[in-house]
Amino acid sequence: PASDESHSFQAETQMLLNMVANSLYSDKEVFLRELVSNACDALEKLRFHNIETAGSDSEAKDLKIEISANKQDMLLVIEDNGVGMTKEELIKNLGTIARSGSRAFIEDMKKQGKSDLSNSVIGQFGVGFYSVFMVAKLVEVFTKSKTDSQGYKWSCDGSSTFHVEKVDKQDVGTKIVLHLKPEAREFSDSQRIEDLVKKYSNFVRFPIKLNGNQINSLEPLWVMEPKSVSLEKHVEFYKFISNSFDKPRFVLHYKADAPVNINALLYFPEGKPGMFDGHDDKECGVALYARRVLIKSKASEIVPKWLRFVKGVIDSEDIPLNISRELLQNSSLLRKLKSVITSRVLKFLLDKSLKDTEEYLNFYQDYSLYLKEGIILSESQSEKEDIAKLLRYESSLLPAGQTTSFSNYHKNMKEDQKKIYYLTSPSRELAETSPYLEALKEKNVEVLFCYQQYDEAILMQLKEFSSCPIISVENELRRSSSNEQVLTPGGLTENEVDSLTSWIKSHLKDKVDTVRVNSKLDTHPCIITVEEMSMARHFIKTQKHGLS
Ligand code: ADP
Ligand code: MG
Repeated sequence: PASDESHSFQAETQMLLNMVANSLYSDKEVFLRELVSNACDALEKLRFHNIETAGSDSEAKDLKIEISANKQDMLLVIEDNGVGMTKEELIKNLGTIARSGSRAFIEDMKKQGKSDLSNSVIGQFGVGFYSVFMVAKLVEVFTKSKTDSQGYKWSCDGSSTFHVEKVDKQDVGTKIVLHLKPEAREFSDSQRIEDLVKKYSNFVRFPIKLNGNQINSLEPLWVMEPKSVSLEKHVEFYKFISNSFDKPRFVLHYKADAPVNINALLYFPEGKPGMFDGHDDKECGVALYARRVLIKSKASEIVPKWLRFVKGVIDSEDIPLNISRELLQNSSLLRKLKSVITSRVLKFLLDKSLKDTEEYLNFYQDYSLYLKEGIILSESQSEKEDIAKLLRYESSLLPAGQTTSFSNYHKNMKEDQKKIYYLTSPSRELAETSPYLEALKEKNVEVLFCYQQYDEAILMQLKEFSSCPIISVENELRRSSSNEQVLTPGGLTENEVDSLTSWIKSHLKDKVDTVRVNSKLDTHPCIITVEEMSMARHFIKTQKHGLS
């Protein structure tokens, strides 16, 4: 026809097109996510336009996305009744790369001198509309703008030119027809398409119909008002996203606009670690969405590793849909998200511990190891201390079974007390009869009891809490029993002390560093201290019985 025009792609677009078309990338499926998102954007624009021009009652218009898959002809068609495009928009939008994301990607590829996508992960995050050329040998776009009475067809076979011609199109909106490449035959299969829509686009705002049936189902709970979501909805949603059969024990649902836009819906599983998740403990359970479209399902970039037991969704409108892996790793936006999420989770757990103590303690019993790991992994002292506020220990001043926190300990410290003391011991009984505790009793301070071997390593990492050094009683003993020897009246004379200590030294030879007399013990004949920490201590503990 006379109206048929050929256009050359802008150079950058051509380059992108080439890379996409020749991509060996296996995750070609993301093209569908891109097309569905574009359709959603177009519907959203129309909805917005309608509200502005005609008031909110026109909002109810039948906005939708229709997909049809035809195996026989190897066709896939995606149609929306959104804003559509004028001829100028068609040429500009589908002929140039306006998006900063794609542009940045291209520049990055140029810099790295890469020319195919085989090793690149961009496919995972999409390159927008052009990703269709991973699967289609010919693409036709039929569109009519809400501002134009004439419809247009854009077509391209993946080469360096595209064509635009007038067509008869009844309805405003856009219809995209993909003529699939032989190796992309799978995308003409309805079941495959349904699975993909569920995977990436299950939560989009508009109905998506496949061969006439609506297939997107779940409401995106995370964008809803937290108060409006029922517990049943949470349970159903939790099962969907976590792929497990238990329930959430805590739900943390919140929205914020500053410092970043964030819609977070996080679940703390009821099950104990490894109980329902197939023992796969290593992967992050939180998915990252941008405006309800899945960006990455195990978004370890936005949740610290030690919170990997938390399941849920984080959606931020500030994230560009086509964010690249590189950006995903380096983006300051994601770092911000991560720190916001971490501190929000910590605050949530702290509140729980104060308000629903019993529930919290049950949680703590199951998941304390993760918190402790957090102290080891965290790089900031203030974050370490925030996590430490969640730890619970028995103490020398509390009856067995009752625990205290660092905050409480700190609050109850004696006026002249400068340090926080702990004692590691395999059990309460051994802790209470420990010579270390006995030697400290004249100080009359509270001592935390740690029953796990790794606790000492964690407290050494923590180092201090509210500017008070955290120190093992044993270490304290080494420091306080300095070189001056205290002789009690009626006890050994100085000479006897000298000959006793040199006798002990000569028998233990290089096993000991120093031998000192100590007057702080009542019921124990001797005490052994080591410079640093548990490994040596545990070795010595087993030897102790032979000595005393
Ligand atoms: P992005 O969606 O990030 O802008 P894309 O490459 O996915 O980039 O799409 C390029 C542009 O083409 C869009 O910004 C939009 O203007 C236009 N477009 C694509 N699909 C449609 C559609 N179904 N309806 C209307 N406009 C569309
Ligand atoms: Mg897009």
